Amino acid sequence: LKTVAIVGRPNVGKSALFNRLAGKTISIVHDQAGVTRDRIVAQCRRGPAWFEIMDTGGIGASTDDVLTDQVQTEASIALDVADLLLFVVDVVDGITTIDQSLARELRRTNKPVILVCNKADSPKRKLNAGEFARFGFADTVEVSAAHGLGIDDLVSLISTRLDLKETTETEEAIARQNSRPLKLAIVGRPNAGKSSLVNAILGQDRAIVSDVAGTTRDALDIKATYNGKHYQLIDTAGIRRRSNLDTVVEISSVDRSLQSIKRADLCLLVIDCAAGAKMQDRKIAQIILEERKPCILVMNKWDLFHPDAKQKDRIEHLDEIMRREFFFLNYAPLVAISAKNKDHIGKLFVQIEKVRNGAQNRISTGALNRLLANAIENTPGALGRSTHSFKLLYATQVNEAEGFAIPVPHFVLFANRASKLTESYMRYLEKVIRDEWDAPGVPFKMSVRGKGP
Ligand code: GDP
Repeated sequence: LKTVAIVGRPNVGKSALFNRLAGKTISIVHDQAGVTRDRIVAQCRRGPAWFEIMDTGGIGASTDDVLTDQVQTEASIALDVADLLLFVVDVVDGITTIDQSLARELRRTNKPVILVCNKADSPKRKLNAGEFARFGFADTVEVSAAHGLGIDDLVSLISTRLDLKETTETEEAIARQNSRPLKLAIVGRPNAGKSSLVNAILGQDRAIVSDVAGTTRDALDIKATYNGKHYQLIDTAGIRRRSNLDTVVEISSVDRSLQSIKRADLCLLVIDCAAGAKMQDRKIAQIILEERKPCILVMNKWDLFHPDAKQKDRIEHLDEIMRREFFFLNYAPLVAISAKNKDHIGKLFVQIEKVRNGAQNRISTGALNRLLANAIENTPGALGRSTHSFKLLYATQVNEAEGFAIPVPHFVLFANRASKLTESYMRYLEKVIRDEWDAPGVPFKMSVRGKGP
């Protein structure tokens, strides 16, 4: 969903407007400037188009000296995550200096702004709204949030500016993504079984597989259909030992994988599990991690992995070894196959589709904020006990990796004191998100913004 942020100095009626748009009372409206609210995000479902509204007004305290700081923080959050900004002003008070500096700031963002002249509940007050034309925002609406006047006009203007259609954004995006072939990079060290996997997928011996290292051709894209879905195999079977100088080979093959990995929606890291994980496997895994790519660890040559042991023990054993070897790639699911025997290829594709579909899950902004607030509450003292201790103001999910079929999300946290968040605490919060967000194989990024020591 697209996000609309409500920005304005304290007491102009942001919360009242927020409640009008949300259609229910969520935030606490109070006459006093700077009153803190418990919720700042809601879905607006007026008309056919849905969007999310974000009230930036609940941030900070109410004393005068922090007022500019507060406005600053509000603006920076809004500017970062919103697709559209509602700049709320008060026609009774007229233009204030804070309004002026806010207007300047909003103009600099290059995001669409709708000027909302609030408290216009009488014809006389409406006249006052003319004063704000000085700010030069083309889109202006006069409303009375308290009395529910002008709200329909505002919603239709928002819909127009956000270009919202009958279907929700998300549905369209999923449909678009599913119709595109998924780009699978098949990477791994020489002899792991990449060409064999490509052949098993294609169901015919199109790639040349040889026992002699160094015989397969260079990287090539191959179109494939499996269970009626389209894929594009970015085949790096070209990764081959070219000489006996191991160092030269490693650098060049890892380098080639990088090119494939960069182009891929999803990486299939093929590992010869009978031979065990080697340095080169870990290097390629490292690249996948650094490129922040969705990944599945394909345990090939499963037929050779302790073939005489009991099936259950084999699986447990494999899982234990490989989880340890690739601990840093903990988001990647593990699938055991035998490419040569064409065993469990179907299972691999079930997992591929799980990754593709899971990535479409989005933790709603409200749920994300509750989740993180609870997690922080459950670890009292971890972030300092003083009154100046850490406070999470707002968190949201921003999808990155534009142009790729599997979006990789970025969770952005806004806090009063970003520096309070240690590396290990960040990992804890990442785990909290990971447990809630049902998207195997998809990495995510998390970052904190905020000022103060
Ligand atoms: P690539 O270098 O990664 O493309 O590896 P290849 O696909 O050329 O495979 C290397 C060797 O491993 C070949 O001799 C394959 O027949 C063999 N191989 C591949 N997959 C399997 C498997 O699942 N089981 C067994 N036993 N051998 C395999």
